[in-house]
Amino acid sequence: MNIIDHPLYHPTWDILDSTKIKSHALCPRKYFWEHMVGWAANHTSVHLVFGSAIHKALECLRTKGFTDDIILESFNLFLEEYRKEFSIDEDERLAPKNPDTALKVIVAYSETYKRDNLTVIETEIPGRCYLAKDIIIHFKVDALAYGKDKRYYLLDYKTCSRMSQDWVDQWQTDIQMNMYNYLLQCQFTEKETGHVIVDGICVKKTKGREVELIRVPCKRTPTMVSVWYWNMMRKVDEIRLDMEDFLKCTEEQTVLTSFPMREVSCMNYGSLCPYHGFCSDWANPLVLLDEIPDGFKEKRWDPRKREEGKTVVKVGVVNEEKEDE
Ligand code: SF4
Repeated sequence: MNIIDHPLYHPTWDILDSTKIKSHALCPRKYFWEHMVGWAANHTSVHLVFGSAIHKALECLRTKGFTDDIILESFNLFLEEYRKEFSIDEDERLAPKNPDTALKVIVAYSETYKRDNLTVIETEIPGRCYLAKDIIIHFKVDALAYGKDKRYYLLDYKTCSRMSQDWVDQWQTDIQMNMYNYLLQCQFTEKETGHVIVDGICVKKTKGREVELIRVPCKRTPTMVSVWYWNMMRKVDEIRLDMEDFLKCTEEQTVLTSFPMREVSCMNYGSLCPYHGFCSDWANPLVLLDEIPDGFKEKRWDPRKREEGKTVVKVGVVNEEKEDE
């Protein structure tokens, strides 16, 4: 069957980015629920909203400078985003992920990095990374910066609730950070290529020490970027194989034989996967997809949305025909 003829087909099915690839690597069945069926838990995550609002604030700060006026403007941008989801009455309950702490983050970031020898050239850059002519990984870079050492750097902001050496070390093998190093190495000469910088922002409940910042340099040699490249090719193959199997699956089967469960991932970061109830009881979910269960909603992640109205950067083994699309 052709993919677009499948009764459940959604145009996001064959669009990939690092978030989707990580989801499949964690558990192919989780990928199935999130990206094939498109069901997501029906609650608003304060961690996601706070992180995304902080992104907006830091983008303003890094683009316009670290003056008092811009700190205020950045904070207002945070508020505008945060208040779309949470009212002032919820601020105390949501501490430390609330506007009080956000202002501390913005001030601390400004104080710490206003003299960091990096000039931001562009922020929120959407793009497509071509691993092969028909293998495209979509991305959006937080910021491209030029250093006093005449090298280019990519910045990525990450918020967390607990800072540890493990948290710092994870970025060296992270799919997204390795892809960003690949982008730098494709775009610039060896002399011009810097590395990826993860600006970690830890927000904790500890009174008086709610905010901790850490800058993690993520330097990958061309050889280690090649390791990432071949891992990605393999991962994309695995997703495509699951997709091919899925197109052959029917409601009549007793068991869904594509997107296998990776049961060792059911407990991740100390909490149970939101799809655990489905995986525990449904042998072939295809017979049960007509109605969205209580506590869930339809949510589709389409990385192409971030490209709207912007110039899209194309990097890697770019297919000239696709460039004309
Ligand atoms: S409950 Fe376990 S097997 Fe099911 S989707 Fe989540 S991680 Fe995968």
